[in-house]
Amino acid sequence: MSQRYVFPFGGDGAVEGKPDKSLLGGKGAGLAEMSQLGIPVPPGFTISTEICRFYQQNDGNYPAGLEDEVAQNLARVEREHGKTFGNGKDPLLVSVRSGAPVSMPGMMDTILNLGLNDEIIEEAIAAGADSRFLCDCYRRLLSMYGDVVLKVPHSEFEKVLEETRDRQGVETDAELSSDALLEVISAYKAKIAEHGKPFPTDPKEQLWGAITAVFESWDNRRAREYRRLQGLSNDMGTAVNVQVMVFGNRGDDCATGVAFSRNPATGEKGIFGEYLINAQGEDVVAGIRTPQSITPEAENGGMSGQFAPAYRILEDVCRKLEKERRDMQDVEFTVDGGRLYMLQTRNGKRTGFAAVRIAVDMVDEGLIESSEAVLRVEPEQLSQLLAPVFDLDQKKEAIDRGDRVAEGLPAGPGAASGRIALSAERAAEMATEGSVILVRAETSPEDIVGMHAAAGILTARGGMTSHAAVVARGLGKPCVVGAGSLRVDEEANEIRVDDRVLREGDEVSIDGSTGEVLAGSLVARESEVLQVLMEGREETPVSKAFTRLLDWADDLRRLDVRTNADTPADAKVARAFGAEGIGLCRTEHMFFDEERIGWVRQAIVAANQEERERALEHLLPMQQSDFEGIFEAMAALPVTVRLLDPPLHEFLPKGERAIAELASQMGMEAGQLADVVDRLSETNPMLGHRGCRLGLTAPDIYVMQVEAIARAAVNLARRGIDVKPEIMVPLVGSKTEMEKLRSMIEETLTRVLSQEDSELAIPIGTMIEVPRAALVADQIATYADFFSFGTNDLTQMTFGFSRDDVGSFLPRYIADGILPDDPFASIDVDGVGQLVRLAVARGRESRSNIKLGVCGEHGGDPRSVEFFDGVGLDYVSCSPYRVPIARLAAARAQQS
Ligand code: PEP
Ligand code: MG
Repeated sequence: MSQRYVFPFGGDGAVEGKPDKSLLGGKGAGLAEMSQLGIPVPPGFTISTEICRFYQQNDGNYPAGLEDEVAQNLARVEREHGKTFGNGKDPLLVSVRSGAPVSMPGMMDTILNLGLNDEIIEEAIAAGADSRFLCDCYRRLLSMYGDVVLKVPHSEFEKVLEETRDRQGVETDAELSSDALLEVISAYKAKIAEHGKPFPTDPKEQLWGAITAVFESWDNRRAREYRRLQGLSNDMGTAVNVQVMVFGNRGDDCATGVAFSRNPATGEKGIFGEYLINAQGEDVVAGIRTPQSITPEAENGGMSGQFAPAYRILEDVCRKLEKERRDMQDVEFTVDGGRLYMLQTRNGKRTGFAAVRIAVDMVDEGLIESSEAVLRVEPEQLSQLLAPVFDLDQKKEAIDRGDRVAEGLPAGPGAASGRIALSAERAAEMATEGSVILVRAETSPEDIVGMHAAAGILTARGGMTSHAAVVARGLGKPCVVGAGSLRVDEEANEIRVDDRVLREGDEVSIDGSTGEVLAGSLVARESEVLQVLMEGREETPVSKAFTRLLDWADDLRRLDVRTNADTPADAKVARAFGAEGIGLCRTEHMFFDEERIGWVRQAIVAANQEERERALEHLLPMQQSDFEGIFEAMAALPVTVRLLDPPLHEFLPKGERAIAELASQMGMEAGQLADVVDRLSETNPMLGHRGCRLGLTAPDIYVMQVEAIARAAVNLARRGIDVKPEIMVPLVGSKTEMEKLRSMIEETLTRVLSQEDSELAIPIGTMIEVPRAALVADQIATYADFFSFGTNDLTQMTFGFSRDDVGSFLPRYIADGILPDDPFASIDVDGVGQLVRLAVARGRESRSNIKLGVCGEHGGDPRSVEFFDGVGLDYVSCSPYRVPIARLAAARAQQS
């Protein structure tokens, strides 16, 4: 038989060679492959995706020859199955199903039981067929065909059924007698005729009507919308699978079910799934009856107890399919008269836990190479293994109670519950008595102490790189940002969501993996992997698999992975996760510590140089001990310390009351302090007096910091600890800024190191955060030993989008397709990416061995990591909890 558009499967009809998914669709390719392997598949044929495209491009016409091919294939199926389509004595029934190259669950149409009409039913019953069963098939056909092909609303059929049930005084359709079903059948036919066209009695016409309806369903609104959201092409088209019907609903030796070849939640080996005795596929989905587990460990012995031979074959089928497809399979099957038939196989969807475990197990089983295992796990899936989780049943109950009060962006994965605190101070106070969720309209650096104290952070404003999001991820805390429906009223001590009011002290729960906000407290538990890596708990199968997968990733990657960490505790976490250094230590967070903030403020408001020096002298040993802690935690690895970045007014209070309070603490006039605050306030602080501009105009802060770095390094070196500090200047935009600051830093280093008789070499570099810095990178590189791309600011300044205010328009931009996605989360390759490329090239042009890294949030985003690998950076740096994700992403980037 020549095959052009139609491809047989089942029985002796297997196609040759590897089935082409783009031509046969996922379902068709799976059926073809199963046939090749001798797996029991009801015979049938696939009409290729090419016909779908032809149909669309030719005003609903089919190519010449298609009809003949379908007829020939149907004849083969009849021979295989020993029944004839349209024959009354022993009718062959077929299903018609869609099957695109990419799975689009539930988006397109399916019609079952084709090949019945009144005469066939009568003849078959006269010939001894089970009348109730046949009538049930017929009424199902009428409603599906009526709904899908003839566009009669499904609800009208439901209504007829309901009325019949009521009349007969029964609860379920299964209890309707054949006579009752005959009534349903005539009512259905009448309904269909009322809507225009009657139900076609000719089985061939039914078949073509169904085939055409499925091709048309490729273009229905639901399917188009799904493809748009998933970024799938409209040109793929769907295939159509015509297949002999087998029945799971023909008696107690029949069943229907779904199975996974391994557990899709945990990855554990062994078949996992559910089945229903005497039922059809749609009964499983409808959820009227509770399916039973198929595993032998189930209460009643699962399927192996009740359908032993079929179960043994199912196990064998799963093994064969895994071996052939080298991946976990999700299969659909039917047992008809005790015989097993496979209806579908595809690679199964799985959780992050299962993805890691299955990939590693498959390497051990010799099914895949370790390089393939690395490609089997999406980097983002790893965060599931690290984040605390809510008990799912409890969460569902809360949602059913109506306690899901808001939704925001899932900025920091994990689950947290606690009492609401509306200010950082309150969070710190309340945290001594139990778990706290810090809820703010938005956070700023002065909230750092409260953020540390809180179990989770929730903001009403802000995007994925807002302050709250960045800091929370850095701390590994669950965080939801931009929950726009929240009205945070600090004065009234409450939050309002629509007409619901939550007060400070009330319990709230946030799921930073989904963005959900729930009123009340839910139980969360710490991840298993974290307990093993951080607390020395005994290894578990999941933690072992996690470690092995990442070891393989390390062997494959070119990029180094560093971390953004400001404290020894963060540094230790990052090291346990495999960080190879610190790429960004933001020193400003240290300034907010209770002991220090007073001296920082003294330095800022000092009336004269002497007073200012005295305050800085107090800060010096404190900074030095911060650095000692971090250098020690990162011994033998590089630590890039960034000199102070934010504008000074961020360290001063806002509002009359707070100013008066601080003035009295500092022994100065409130008016005097208010003047300083006023003098330092800026219209646009992000573009104001910050970063290196501060270093050049108020150099003594930088001098103090450099001295603290040098003294810390010398001290540790004396103790035999291998220290590798690097000093980084923020926000540089011109060669001269860097030239002057470098010489100031070098002078300080020379002074301190010669006093201490040390020969430590401390590299000096800059961030590339201002577009101009990227453009003149060759000039800047003459004074910089390294560049670290600060892609948060670089994105902000390239787009001209304030990173703390994007929440008000960015979601709309993305929904409307103005931007493909959030440029603060995933690097904008076309725009910001060009600046990165340019700076890499120009930087290397003037200093060939310049070290290049990135420390913006993009350093932990898999897609961005692939870009950074491609442009040839030396390392990426990201928050501690994203280090494993970046390690895996860097390995995958090398293989793409
Ligand atoms: C950046 O701008 O990318 C960066 C890392 O610095 P910060 O987020 O502290 O502004
Ligand atoms: Mg920055």
